[in-house]
Amino acid sequence: MNRFESFCTKFVQSVGKKEGAISPSITGSASFAYGDSESAEGIFDGSVKKPLYARVGNPTSAQLESILADMDGGVGAVVTSSGMAATSLACMSLLKTGDEIVSIGGLFGGTYSFFSETLSRFGITTTFFDVDELENIKNALTDKTKIIFLESVGNPNMRLPDIKALADIANEAGIVLMVDNTITPLSVAPLALGADIVVYSTTKIISGNASALGGAAVFRAINEGEDKFKTPRYEEVHKFIKGMGKMALIGNAKKRAMRDFGMSASAYNSYLTMLGLETLPLRMDRIVESVEKIVKGLNERGYHVNHPCLSFHPHHARYVSDFSNGCGTLFTIDMGTKERAFKFLNTTKLATITANIGDSRTLALHMASTIYRDFDEKTREFLGITEGLIRVSVGLENPQDIIDDFLNAAK
Ligand SMILES: *Cc1c(COP(=O)(O)O)cnc(C)c1O
Repeated sequence: MNRFESFCTKFVQSVGKKEGAISPSITGSASFAYGDSESAEGIFDGSVKKPLYARVGNPTSAQLESILADMDGGVGAVVTSSGMAATSLACMSLLKTGDEIVSIGGLFGGTYSFFSETLSRFGITTTFFDVDELENIKNALTDKTKIIFLESVGNPNMRLPDIKALADIANEAGIVLMVDNTITPLSVAPLALGADIVVYSTTKIISGNASALGGAAVFRAINEGEDKFKTPRYEEVHKFIKGMGKMALIGNAKKRAMRDFGMSASAYNSYLTMLGLETLPLRMDRIVESVEKIVKGLNERGYHVNHPCLSFHPHHARYVSDFSNGCGTLFTIDMGTKERAFKFLNTTKLATITANIGDSRTLALHMASTIYRDFDEKTREFLGITEGLIRVSVGLENPQDIIDDFLNAAK
């Protein structure tokens, strides 16, 4: 174990309490008594820091929020009912009809349909780019672009962005860079590289055992001097900057999205997420090592595996330089045809066939017939979905057991 040491200390120390019950307490109450009218007024105007109503936050989730904010080096976080809820919270808190999104990367299916189908119904348009189309991305930015959205590792196309270069483009243009970093800052730290908002599905490797659906958005502090959020492009945020200073993006997210859309996290799920978080560094260390072993083992035997640890992958150099802590739990195998992919999945004894990723167990799924079944051919090609493509999320099993099982299934 030589990676993630600081996270090992941070997570267990911040989840456990030093007095009384060590494990976080679950506050199940939907509402909170204010005591007297003066306190009620103070809670509503923000001068008294006490819970208001569980739709806009509860004490269990608040503990998780402070750990996640610290994990990313953000000023604060808002946890949500799912990963999609985190993306919609962060987007809806900034967007209005007529605005534009520039979306980069091999995108998670739900995010793709949120942008292309749902937001377009509300007059918000999104243009999609591959991670290496830097010039086209620059040229696509207009006065109406509010968000540059990036996924830190292409799921499932396994392409890696140059996050620093994309953050420089966003910062030069004065536009928000929002990063879906579900692979966690143990792999890459978007805020440190110049991003403004990071979103997570905590359902995945943060929880790690399919017990709690959840998400989070982590926000950076507003700068004291110049800041892109102080420009006319983000004028709706200005009143929160006036009232809350560096914490403005938290107030903006809670009042302009959470309060009205209600994608709130339950206290019980926040509790389970914290239990998962405690062991995240140990699981991540194990899994990123296993992923490389399995990918290389299958590649040596002539199977078409896709992962940037392979020297012929177009982003191998970037993997070595920018992703030295690995790039999460995923790789893909292309079995050529749907029939061969189905045979593989029906023969493997270790992999659980499901749409989830980042679990303690190894998971696998045929992409074209499931998550991407409603997408047209052109979109599938853009997202790298071929007929025989299987996405694998590596778990905690002995990697040699997985290699043996997969070689048998792929025969
Ligand atoms: C799963 C996932 C989401 C959506 O999260 P849910 O918790 O399922 O809503 C978003 N982005 C990525 C990269 C994901 O893997």
